[in-house]
Amino acid sequence: MHSLKKAPSPYKILISACLLGENVRYDAKINKIENKLLDNWLQHGILLSICPEVCGGLATPRPAAEIQNDGSIKTQAGQDVSEAFTAGALKTLQLALENNIKAAVLTEKSPSCGSSQIYNGSFDRTLISGQGVTTQLLRRHGIQVFNQFQLQQVQDYLDGL
Ligand code: SF4
Repeated sequence: MHSLKKAPSPYKILISACLLGENVRYDAKINKIENKLLDNWLQHGILLSICPEVCGGLATPRPAAEIQNDGSIKTQAGQDVSEAFTAGALKTLQLALENNIKAAVLTEKSPSCGSSQIYNGSFDRTLISGQGVTTQLLRRHGIQVFNQFQLQQVQDYLDGL
């Protein structure tokens, strides 16, 4: 007889699509994370994946972009991609609200998904404290955003709701 594992949470978890190995990164590299908690969530079908930048209409691969001092988002060549980033953030928020999402696991350092560190806008690989545009929007709507190194914190947070 099979014993069914208890579902890990009644809530779905929003996750950056690239963390599940989807080919959505700006550099088209596959970057799937390996983790037992993640496997458990996958097994229970509670992960909802999205790539804000692809949802905002950007292609894969695409030029790297960074948030500038004035809040705009530009590629190194100076192309302003703020509109696509904002559109993707709004679509991500909409998906989260439709699914009663309480917590998200988003990829650290991304100008969309970063939650504690982002690049400084100079394209010299310097990190600063900050958050991506999707993270900012989700947090403004009360959704807790964690990074891929904080999966246990996500589980603890959901268990405490
Ligand atoms: S926007 Fe987010 S989900 Fe999409 S590739 Fe970048 S970090 Fe991953």
